[in-house]
Order: sequence, then C-alpha cells, then structure tokens
Amino acid sequence: MEESLPRASGEARRRPDRTLRVKMVLLGSSGVGKSSLALRFSKDRFQNPSPTVGCAYLTRVMHLGGATLRLEIWDTAGQEKYHSVTPLYYRGAHAALVVYDICKKETFVRAQLWIRELQRQYVPGSTVLFLVGNKGDLDQDRQVSAQEGQNLAEDKGVSFTETSALSGHQVNELLGAVGRSETNKQTNKQ
Ligand code: GDP
Repeated sequence: MEESLPRASGEARRRPDRTLRVKMVLLGSSGVGKSSLALRFSKDRFQNPSPTVGCAYLTRVMHLGGATLRLEIWDTAGQEKYHSVTPLYYRGAHAALVVYDICKKETFVRAQLWIRELQRQYVPGSTVLFLVGNKGDLDQDRQVSAQEGQNLAEDKGVSFTETSALSGHQVNELLGAVGRSETNKQTNKQ
C-alpha cells in the first residue's frame, strides 16, 4: 500500500526518487495486538490474526515529504511466549515499537522490562523507541491511563502514543512519526 503523509515542518528538501529502507520491529507481551497492528500498518485493515509461529514480515511503501520510505514491519509472531526473542530480530532496526494492552496492567509492567532490555542490550544508539498503548477503542476496560503511559515514556526517554489496531486510531500518525524519525536521522547525517 502506498500513502502520502503530511510533510513535517522543518523537514529537509530531498530528491523525490530516494527510497529509504526502514526496519521497524514490534515487541510486547502476547495478545497485546502486535500482529493486528502489523496488519493495520501494512494493509490498513483489521482481522482476527491466525496464530503464527516464528517471525512475520510485512511491508508498506509511503511517501513523506520528498522521500519514499519502504517500511519493513517485523512481528515477533509468538516468539515472546517462549521468552526467546532473538537479538537477530532487533539487529539493524531503525525503530522499535514496544506495545502493551491498555486493558491489561501486566502487559504495561512487561513493557517497562522490554524497554529496559532494549536500551541495555539490543538497540544500537540509532534505534528510536516508541511506547504504544494499543486497544484504545476499549476505553471502558482500561487498566492503564494515558497519563501513566506518558509518564513511563518520559521517564525512559521514548515517544508515546495510544493506538487501536481495530479502528485504525493514531496508526498513520505513528507511522508518520516513525518515518520522520528516520528521515531526520538521514538529514542530520548529511
Ligand atoms: P499479538 O499476540 O500481540 O500479536 O496480538 P494479536 O494481534 O494476535 O491480537 C490479540 C487479540 O487482540 C486478537 O483477538 C485481536 O483481534 C485483538 N486486538 C488486537 N488489537 C486490537 C485493538 O486495537 N482493539 C481490540 N478491541 N482488539 C484488538
């Protein structure tokens, strides 16, 4: 799927034919909606995902300002159930999304551990981390407030958003932020 996203203010001008590869990995407890988000990012639709084993990989091409980005969206696809997400999964990632379910406090607690683990071990300095509270459409069952999410993100120095893979809420905004984090990095290198 191709989509034009709004140009960020102050974004550098670049050649229109330039394609940037962006590796984005999804992490978080089982059942928080990683596969659903990956599908929403790639195909802009929601469906009950079938159980997957190993590692799923989806793509999306988007245009951001003058740049073309090829997003490679990696989903653990169940590896986390066995506490064995291999470092190979993170290697070369430009962005890592640590996802929790706003209706399950324990997934939020686990998200803190994922962030700590990523910051300590796996993520090279150039990987941008995003904390993502998913299932925002289930506000009535919420166990984690948006403020708690925001506080954790500020404490860890990462970006924060709440999404709904079901409704698509904040999904394009999140993709835009991932894309901009990469185009800005490239601009700063020049
Ligand atoms: P994963 O194990 O983290 O990959 O989670 P899945 O993508 O398999 O989703 C687990 C369950 O949560 C499935 O039944 C999904 O349909 C459901 N789900 C995922 N995202 C959302 C969402 O944004 N809202 C709601 N209401 N359900 C969701």
